[in-house]
Amino acid sequence: MKLHNTLTRQTEEFKPHEAGKVKLYTCGPTVYDYPTIGNLRSFVFDDTLRRALQVAGYEVAHVMNITDVGHLVSDEDEGEDKLEAGAGREQKSVKEISQRYAQAFFEDVKALNILAPNAYRGPHGSYAYATDFIDEQIELVNQLMGKDYAYKTASAIYFDISKLSDYGKLSGQKLSDKEVAARSEVVNDPAKRNPQDFALWFFTVGRFKNHTLRWRSPWGEGFPGWHLECSAIVHATLGEPIDIHTGGVDHIGTHHTNEIAQTEAAFGVKLANYWLHNEHLMVDGQKMSKSKRNFYTLKDVIGKGYEPMALRLLFLQSHYRTQANFTWEVLDAAKDHLQNLRAWADLKHQQKPVVGLVDIRPAKGAIFTDLNTPKALAELASHKESPSQEVLELIDKLLGLHLADRPNITSDEKELIIKREEAREQKDWTGADNYRAQLAKKGIDIKDTETGPIWSRISS
Ligand code: AMP
Ligand code: ZN
Repeated sequence: MKLHNTLTRQTEEFKPHEAGKVKLYTCGPTVYDYPTIGNLRSFVFDDTLRRALQVAGYEVAHVMNITDVGHLVSDEDEGEDKLEAGAGREQKSVKEISQRYAQAFFEDVKALNILAPNAYRGPHGSYAYATDFIDEQIELVNQLMGKDYAYKTASAIYFDISKLSDYGKLSGQKLSDKEVAARSEVVNDPAKRNPQDFALWFFTVGRFKNHTLRWRSPWGEGFPGWHLECSAIVHATLGEPIDIHTGGVDHIGTHHTNEIAQTEAAFGVKLANYWLHNEHLMVDGQKMSKSKRNFYTLKDVIGKGYEPMALRLLFLQSHYRTQANFTWEVLDAAKDHLQNLRAWADLKHQQKPVVGLVDIRPAKGAIFTDLNTPKALAELASHKESPSQEVLELIDKLLGLHLADRPNITSDEKELIIKREEAREQKDWTGADNYRAQLAKKGIDIKDTETGPIWSRISS
């Protein structure tokens, strides 16, 4: 399998650290609001990667976190904690907010047929919650303090980035560029040694005096900086080096750069061998995000009468490393595309299979070449004849579109089709139309071909 590695800026042949096994860590949601469909693009990308690895024969150990503390609004150290802001907005406790939106996230994940992580079991199930790893995060800070990579000011414990010669290697961004960005930020601790130093642990003082989530630490009461949780969770669950770490491209410059710094400084090991990043979902040429208030959620999509699967297919229609622009027209096209795939799958009940596993090798090959799902879908669309059950099962394993388990028509529906044929033979067009309407009511569409009528089920 070939994958594009952000770290080397190259598409490389994937080689796991241990033969046959893959340790995969994917950055999860911050649960302070509904996920945007931009966030969901990122999770469908993770899922596509996971599925491709499994089909390639790897045993994949997958961990995903849930951020329920410490993620400040701008991904840097200034601003409010997103969870606390959500609680303020809705007049609820932080726990209520994180529970509610974690639940919303799980519902979306289920509706989009995204596989749950499988390599960790904790108090909240198979997702690793940041607040369930507080001791591990404190221990990580402890290591960094002991090795002199971290220092304390009156407001926080910071990571001293000048101690790492290759800080920023993931983005390739020059420190001087980051410095300018960091200096223009609103809140900056004057006691920081370098403007780009980032917080590992915030004290509940000053602007965070009323922060509700807080824990005791050897340095003072407070809460963890956002980047800390991923390093601590990887260390506690999978162990370094992991094979693949993923997230959206917005994570490259700060979040992932800082995760690498923490892990490599504390443990002297590489965090991950391959870094994969998905590009953004855009709306009107702008990144879809909560802060810009230009976002849609899966609820909006369902509310307009679309199935979640149409959105999943929309994501698969563009390559993960290209920006995709969301419009309702594009979603309409995805919906039609989904129906075409379903009609193709329904042929298996009506004709002898013609398309076998060999025929869809090129589609599989496209996915194994840096997850080229648009190419794979185009390959699949070139097949007009009946697919075998194995073909549909393989496509489901790779793309998760629920094509393999589509039911046959019932005997009642079959009878209506036969009656319609009889009416047509007698040139009773009104009668035939009547049967077609009855079938349509049951969600069955009929196409007349040279070899007779072909049905397909419109809904899933
Ligand atoms: P968050 O809940 O903000 O931590 O984001 C969850 C994931 O969604 C991260 O991997 C982000 O990089 C990703 N993400 C955020 N906005 C978008 C977007 N518009 N398109 C694609 N991915 C996004
Ligand atoms: Zn992370």
